[in-house]
Amino acid sequence: MTAGSMKSKYSSTKMFMQRLSDRMKAVSNVFRKMALSTPVGANLSLGRMERKNPLFEAVEIETTTICNRKCSYCPNANLARPAKNMDEALFRSIIDSLGEIGFSGRVSPHFYGEPLVDKRILKFLAYTRERLPKALIKLFTNGDLLTYELFLKLLDAGVDVVRIAQHDPRPPKTVVETLRRIKENGLMRHVEYVKYYNNEKDLTNRGGLVDVKPSKRKIFCDYVSCATVDYEGNVLLCCQDYLSKHRFGNLKKERLVDVWNNARYKALRDKIKCGMWPLEICRVCAGVRKAS
Ligand code: SF4
Ligand code: SF4
Repeated sequence: MTAGSMKSKYSSTKMFMQRLSDRMKAVSNVFRKMALSTPVGANLSLGRMERKNPLFEAVEIETTTICNRKCSYCPNANLARPAKNMDEALFRSIIDSLGEIGFSGRVSPHFYGEPLVDKRILKFLAYTRERLPKALIKLFTNGDLLTYELFLKLLDAGVDVVRIAQHDPRPPKTVVETLRRIKENGLMRHVEYVKYYNNEKDLTNRGGLVDVKPSKRKIFCDYVSCATVDYEGNVLLCCQDYLSKHRFGNLKKERLVDVWNNARYKALRDKIKCGMWPLEICRVCAGVRKAS
């Protein structure tokens, strides 16, 4: 077996394990929510969770706030944030701190910016792979800048999966051409493709900031299993907190693992994971259901 085929087999196994774990988590959360609907069950469940403090399953890091699009169902369309890049030293220090704990979950460089707009992205991804050899690196993109050559460079830098989102009625020509060449070269196992354009099945209302009305009923929320870090290093409630209103620490001064273990933050996550909504942003948030 060649090194390339071993690497791809390893990536496929990692992806399969992640999907399996997402499914199991979804089932377990439904049971937890049922248990919580009785006073005895609530005490037992919350007590058990307090003893258990699992690490974040994924980390999303905003290397840039800049996106080349303004989709109608995204707060980027109407609510401006400053056009900023994360400081390179801060990015490296976050990855270093994940390396110290041997992090093996998902790492994705995004929040509300388009990662491929960031000219440093290949360097950042290669550094991530070097320091986190066991992590699953998934890059979320709108695909506008994704040529086939860039796709290969992303794989070379260590990306396992490129998740392309379609934000127009039809995919742009560049995406069609890039996908054609990816298929032709048998690399589709590294691609996820999702149609967001007018797709209320998969859209969220971004914590109440945009006017989409997803049909999914919110039973529980696992988005808090992912650590979301904005360009300034703030650790946020979740990826829906576009305005960085709910901050639990800052990675210029603290390590992510220490912020994560903060008692107030942890208690809040425990409640949200069980379908209790202590914050207004969660009460108005719609469309989240799947594991992150
Ligand atoms: S949905 Fe994605 S591509 Fe569209 S404006 Fe928001 S961040 Fe950009
Ligand atoms: S319910 Fe709360 S924690 Fe979950 S995605 Fe919505 S705003 Fe974020």
